[in-house]
Amino acid sequence: MINKQLKLILVSTPIGYLGSGKGGGVELTIVSLIKGLIYLGHEIILIAPKGSKLPFESELLEIRLIDGIDQPSWQHLKKKDPVLIPFNGVLPKLWEEVINIANESDAVINFAYDWLPLWLTKIQLIKIFHLISMGDESLIMKDIISEISHLFPFQLAFHTKSQSKDYSLKTDPIIVGNGFDMENYLFNENVNGPLGWAGRIAPEKGLEDAVKVANYLGEKLLVWGFIEDKKYAFEIENSFTKEIIEWRGFLPTDKFQEQLGRCRALINTPKWNEAYGNVIVEAMACGVPVIAYDLGGPGELIEDGVNGFLVKPNDIEGLIKATKSISEIKRQNCRNWVEKKASNKVFAERVENWLNKGLNKKISEDIQD
Ligand code: UDP
Repeated sequence: MINKQLKLILVSTPIGYLGSGKGGGVELTIVSLIKGLIYLGHEIILIAPKGSKLPFESELLEIRLIDGIDQPSWQHLKKKDPVLIPFNGVLPKLWEEVINIANESDAVINFAYDWLPLWLTKIQLIKIFHLISMGDESLIMKDIISEISHLFPFQLAFHTKSQSKDYSLKTDPIIVGNGFDMENYLFNENVNGPLGWAGRIAPEKGLEDAVKVANYLGEKLLVWGFIEDKKYAFEIENSFTKEIIEWRGFLPTDKFQEQLGRCRALINTPKWNEAYGNVIVEAMACGVPVIAYDLGGPGELIEDGVNGFLVKPNDIEGLIKATKSISEIKRQNCRNWVEKKASNKVFAERVENWLNKGLNKKISEDIQD
């Protein structure tokens, strides 16, 4: 039987507290999904690292904050590295709290891209659902994700098809996309603004390619995001003679969208299999067309010629050509795309369907071949 109202435990990323920027796009995903699930009438307990804050309150929401040392992120470890858990680490503490209150809930949703919660699924104390937030970054992670897919295929979901292709899965992947609170993004119709780039400042995000475009066009590039790798940021800044980059910092969503909305285009230049690409959709929600490399998530978010342009990875000339043609894209198309495909309401409905599918599946069926 399908539970109409679910009692859900959501477990945040152990990489940093919500609002720190260290968790990347996962932070926003958690916040907008909570709002969407509450809208659908579900009850939520959020377990998150100390310091985490949500921009809203609700009778249906309880937050439990846990103290401990941040978990290192897999994208900066080597493929064959072992699982690392620091002394006094927050990751096991988050999950001790889950185990203490697990009986009070119907299901747990895990947002950590980490081995421990995936492995805990096998104990079957409670149904743990994992929204996998990255492509393949490590052998041990790839292996445990594949194992869980074979044991409990309905307890895994991915943001995009391209991301899921990194893994060896038992069944067709469940794709839930992502979602954004449309009230937080205002449509801006100005077509003459500057060029922008947004994301964590780290090598896998490829900021240098967007700077090359701005440099070629003799323009400034406005850059927003959490500086994760200071050395990398410094190197990019110093490889151009003029002051091309205008650092805007890591801003809260209300200020970020207000500044982002003034751009005539966002350039998105990932160097890895981008699982989704939140900033792409946030820009489109403000009416800003996006020019992105066709690598991972962006290829499923951008409809070439409709809400932006897709360019072959590492093709700087292609980026420049697309930037020159950006006035061909109607800004309203961009906003419309997000409203239809990626509001937090449609995202929460997709997640609700996923949970109901997993909850109605008996464990014995899951483990049959
Ligand atoms: N972001 C932000 N303020 C800023 C710049 C970025 O809050 O000034 C957030 C943005 O909303 C997005 C995240 O940073 O949710 C970056 O996520 P994305 O999925 O683009 O990349 P990831 O960091 O997860 O690889």
